[in-house]
Amino acid sequence: MSIAMEAFQNALEAKRSGQKCPIHGCDKLVYFSLRTKQDEAYCPECQNEQLLKMQAEFDQKASRSINERKFRDNSLVSPKMWACTFDSFVAAPNTREAFMKHKISRAADAFAAKNTAHNAVLYGQPGAGKSHLAMALMQKVHKESQQTMAFVNISRLFNKIKNSFEDPTEYWTKEKAIQIMTSVDLLCIDDLGTESSMGRQGQEASRWVQDVIYDVLENQDRIIITTNLSDKQLRQVYDSKIFSRIFANSANTRFDFSGISDKRLEGV
Ligand SMILES: [Zn+2]
Repeated sequence: MSIAMEAFQNALEAKRSGQKCPIHGCDKLVYFSLRTKQDEAYCPECQNEQLLKMQAEFDQKASRSINERKFRDNSLVSPKMWACTFDSFVAAPNTREAFMKHKISRAADAFAAKNTAHNAVLYGQPGAGKSHLAMALMQKVHKESQQTMAFVNISRLFNKIKNSFEDPTEYWTKEKAIQIMTSVDLLCIDDLGTESSMGRQGQEASRWVQDVIYDVLENQDRIIITTNLSDKQLRQVYDSKIFSRIFANSANTRFDFSGISDKRLEGV
């Protein structure tokens, strides 16, 4: 018998027990329990609250799993990256890695607490753990605040968009990409700068690539950016409008990973 049916059945067969509910002050009712084979007293108000709570928990669970799936659908990232959390980021105590982990975890708390305009930039040489910590931040914010998210690796993105020029079934068209990246509450652009090598001009990112990045930066004011480029290199690769957008609203959330050993080589 369902819980709702049981409650209904109980109400039909109820007699007053003479006891009061200490919480609600109403009369407790009695029903004969088929489970315990004896009379049980219960408060109808308590029972109602319990039902509502179960309903709310169920709804929350359902909306969480929808939200979780959406985060993944909105992302372009190697599947193994989903294992990147703060717990899985190994850093020996009192090292620079441990310090960065702590700082970025604090930034995650700030992003989770408030949905205000803010960027964060994680920069420095490859292999220092920037993408790992950026993903850890995204997953923590998502878990704690249920904000909508997208984690987009930039070279995967531009490969998809390039593909969409010839393949009409490609989901990630330029328009779709911009729509996703500007509509989420928090966006991570992973490995900014790697797409610059895709342009014919070598160092300078090709025009349409810059246009997409500019459109996103113009219309999304909460972005976590990881890049292997230094600020000097970013200035060479992107035009000044993009450069200043990248560094807007990130005064206290720029994380310099230079001088950190290659995390990818550790423990392998
Ligand atoms: Zn009660």
